Formats: sequence, structure tokens, C-alpha cells
Amino acid sequence: MQTVYADNNSTTEIAPEVLEAMLPFLKESYGNPSSMHTFGGEIHHHIEEARERVAALIGAEPQEIVFTSCGTESDNTAIRGTIEAYPRKRHIITTRVEHPAVKNVCRYLSSRGYKVTELDVNGEGLLDVEELKKVLSDDTALVSTMYANNETGVIFPIEEISGIVKEKGIPFHADSVQAVGKIAIDLKKTPIDLLSLSGHKLHAPKGVGALYIRHGTKFTPFIIGGHQESGRRGGTENVASIVGLGKASELACKFRDEENVIIKKMRDRLEKGILKQVPHCRVNGHPEKRLSNTTNISFEYVEGEAILLSLSEVGICASSGSACTSGSLEPSYVLRAMGVPFTAINGSVRFSLSRYNSEKDIDYIIARTKVIIERLRVISPFGAK
Ligand code: PLP
Repeated sequence: MQTVYADNNSTTEIAPEVLEAMLPFLKESYGNPSSMHTFGGEIHHHIEEARERVAALIGAEPQEIVFTSCGTESDNTAIRGTIEAYPRKRHIITTRVEHPAVKNVCRYLSSRGYKVTELDVNGEGLLDVEELKKVLSDDTALVSTMYANNETGVIFPIEEISGIVKEKGIPFHADSVQAVGKIAIDLKKTPIDLLSLSGHKLHAPKGVGALYIRHGTKFTPFIIGGHQESGRRGGTENVASIVGLGKASELACKFRDEENVIIKKMRDRLEKGILKQVPHCRVNGHPEKRLSNTTNISFEYVEGEAILLSLSEVGICASSGSACTSGSLEPSYVLRAMGVPFTAINGSVRFSLSRYNSEKDIDYIIARTKVIIERLRVISPFGAK
């Protein structure tokens, strides 16, 4: 059976060029970059090259990049490292649609006495910046919002948000795990203070990420240990994966814009094809202000999990907005925050594409989805339509 992978917001295939760049560091070049001897010491140079490549992708200076183990660590480090640097301030602003890597840290801090404001989004998944202006205060230690949403692909107006926050002199963190490698980011022009990214979302391996910390940003290290990463993150470096992230960043820098045109064309055709062939479905999220690889479609009168299992049976990998928590199916809090009707939230499916998808994949997904939805609606407990 063929596999059609359309779950690239969950994770991506490692690019062959990335794997090739990594292999020497998993074989003969296994030294510790902190060693005094040349065998280990010369590996340091490859980490610095990767740092330059990651920095170039987001318009940063290499010294502003700290390698981490994943997006979650970058988010935790940004939030906890900032609030610790401002011990007198007790207020954090975030949004209702953050990934758990931000949402749950903020909720934890709320249980520790911090006041946490979760901003609302509108029906298209966009943030109300007027609302943000109203809640900023002298007590605000940090504003943390995502750049692009993992479920819907909706892109927040980060230039505007960061400008507003900067004007008040408050640190601003952007969880950009879904945005980096997919959209152009230039930190020379956008006043973001801290930015999280993750290797496995841009064709590098899992287990590596980075945190951008703008020069001059007050910050306390989260993982304390050796002097690695200029004392900002202890722990022997994951050399092969860092080199892989560097290579993936270089590829994204070179090819992102032209790939985006192709990916968007496929995504739009997928979306239109499904909307045309399947009645009672809708796309969630702003029609334009969205990542060009993502579509989140709600199929009314069917369960998202049933759709995903049926798609999986025919080799199609997609994802649901719902999270399965302790045996019960929780409807997506992102779609709920957007006011998507309950019957539509339940049947939501996210397709997220990459450079490795083809037009043939799109034909296959449309054809199979149509048949699956028809079949599931006949047996649906919500009433066949
Ligand atoms: N933030 C967002 C928006 C994400 O989509 C993800 C992962 O899906 C993360 C953070 C966490 O990244 P990682 O899987 O590298 O820990």
C-alpha cells in the first residue's frame, strides 16, 4: 500500500542532504566539541557553521542562537528564563490557542501565583491586538504568542504584536516552531526578543531545536550545567542533529520561497477538491493569513478519529484537531476558541504538506476522503446526511 504523508506539522521527513551532512558526526567524528584535543575541538567549528546557517534563516546574529533539544525546551526556556530575570513582575500574557509547550507552562506558572492572561482569537483564528494593548501593564513580565498555529496554520500579525509590546519595553517571545522554514522571518526588522524553533518541523531530525535570544535581552538559563552555548544552556551538544538543523536551515533559506509556491498550489487544490466533492464541510482559519502547507477541514456529522483511522487504512497520514486525553476525546481547544460549532470541531482533520508531496498525492487524498466521508456518514451516530 502506498503511504501519502500529509502530517508535516507533526513532523517532517529528514531531507537526504541533511542526513548526509549528519552521518560523519554519528560515525568517525564523534569527539566532544568541548575537548582540548583537536579530534574533539575541531567539531566545534561545525556547530558554529550550523549556528550561522540557523541565524541566516531568521535574520539573526549567530551569537543570538542557542541550541536546545526541541521546540518545547525552547519555549520553556524562553518563558521561565525571562520571568526569572524579572522576579518582581508577576503577569504573563499569552493566547488561548498556544501549543501545550507554551500553554501548559503558563498554566503551571499560574498555579505558582502568576497572573496569566490568555487572549481570545476571532472566528478566523486571529488575535485582537486592541485586546492585547488593553491588558499590557507595568506588572507584565512577558508576552508569549505563537507565530503560526499548528492546527490551522493561521499566522498572527507578529510585526504588529511585537511592535506594540516593544513600545512598552516588555519582552516578547514568539513560538515560531511552525513558522520557521515555512515563511520569511527577518529579526532585523521584527522586534521579537525570543523565538523558538524546532528541527523536526523543517526536515531536520527530532531532538534538536534552537532559541533565538536577541542581544541585550535579560535572561536566566533554564538548563544549568557546563559552559556550553556560552553558558546559556548546559549539556554536551547533540552535534549530529545540530549539524542537521544547520543544513536544513540552509536548504530552507535557498528553496523556501519557490517550494512554497508549489506547496500552496497543491494545498489549494486539495482544499478546493474536497470542498467541491464532499458536502457539509468547511475550512477552519483565515483564508489567506495561513501557512501555505496547512488546511484544517471540518467534516460535519462524522468523528475526526474515525476519519483519521479510515484514512490511515488507505495509507494517508493526517491529523486531528482533537487530543485523546486519558481515554476521552477532547475537542480541539484551538477550534473551540475560534467558535467553530461543536459538530464541526468533532470532525476536523488537518492535512499538512511538504516539499515531498506530489500532485498524485493530492488526487489520492481527495478521492479517498470523498469515499470515506460518504461511508462514515451512513453509519454516523450524529445522523446520516
Ligand atoms: N510549538 C508549536 C507551535 C508546535 O507545533 C510544536 C510541535 O508540534 C511545539 C511547539 C513543540 O515542538 P517539539 O515537538 O520540537 O517539542
